[in-house]
Amino acid sequence: MPATIIDGREISNHIRTGLEQEVTKLTADGIKPGLAVILVGNNQASRTYVTSKQKSCKAIGMHSELIELSEDVEEQVLLNEIETLNNRDDIHGILVQLPLPAHISETKVIETISPNKDVDGFHPVNIGKMMTGQDTFLPCTPFGVLEMLKYMELPIEGKNAVIVGRSNIVGKPAGQLLLNENATVTYCHSKTANLASVTKEADILVAAIGRAKMLTADYVKEGAVVIDVGMNRDDHGKLCGDVDYNDVFEKAGYITPVPGGVGPMTITMLLYNTVKSAQNVLSNRNSG
Ligand code: NDP
Repeated sequence: MPATIIDGREISNHIRTGLEQEVTKLTADGIKPGLAVILVGNNQASRTYVTSKQKSCKAIGMHSELIELSEDVEEQVLLNEIETLNNRDDIHGILVQLPLPAHISETKVIETISPNKDVDGFHPVNIGKMMTGQDTFLPCTPFGVLEMLKYMELPIEGKNAVIVGRSNIVGKPAGQLLLNENATVTYCHSKTANLASVTKEADILVAAIGRAKMLTADYVKEGAVVIDVGMNRDDHGKLCGDVDYNDVFEKAGYITPVPGGVGPMTITMLLYNTVKSAQNVLSNRNSG
């Protein structure tokens, strides 16, 4: 039987409709959620992502602001920009588009963003909160993966979840979020021996590798939930995931397409986190 498609666009639209209503309410209370995005240099892919994030903000009535800095900007100038945004009441979320030029320390940049405005969920304080199961801003892509599973009402507790990839922004937090939901989690990476023997045990398989169509049906258990985070170009320049979609489609129980799967969810969870930050400001105001 072919897999059921997990439609990231449909789930995104559902969440964004709720967010739009929340933005209207917050704006009426004098707190219009605002996101500031800093773009350093002229990386075309980064520019495309940033434009898409801004458009999505505006579509649900949020304020969005782009700060562009040149490729050779001094690190301290960037850090000063972040400090200014940390202190602005009309900005609730700050995002510095990665990657940054080599002369700038990503760690320093991330740690300069106030944890209260770190809507990417990359600040060590927020990562620590996520690890200890506290309320915080969850990193957008893994958060999107979790929301997809929840929307589809797919059980997580007690399931074997295998994550292929261990980056700080996708693989590691994806595993942690599933662990928080009581899955039994295994991480795989480039040094994993007999990868297919591990992934074939997965009830939930998350691919966050960055290798076009690497996971074929041989890596997948019959009926598994397959979540494909990868965004790659195939030999014809067409966007594709880390999973060989056509090959796996007949074997998996559920599958996310690329495009139209995890991608739209990432931006949606960024909007969610920014709205949440504005809500935090409102509740602090009301309790203070
Ligand atoms: P990274 O390059 O940071 O991490 C890739 C991970 O895959 C590493 O842990 C690496 O292992 C592992 N890996 C690489 N080759 C193999 C292999 N042959 N076998 C097993 N594991 C392997 O990538 P990201 O986590 O940043 O991104 C992963 C993918 O997700 C990319 O395609 C990216 O474009 C996409 N992405 C999509 C987003 C979305 O919104 N849909 C958002 C962010 C990313 P090791 O640690 O040993 O090197």
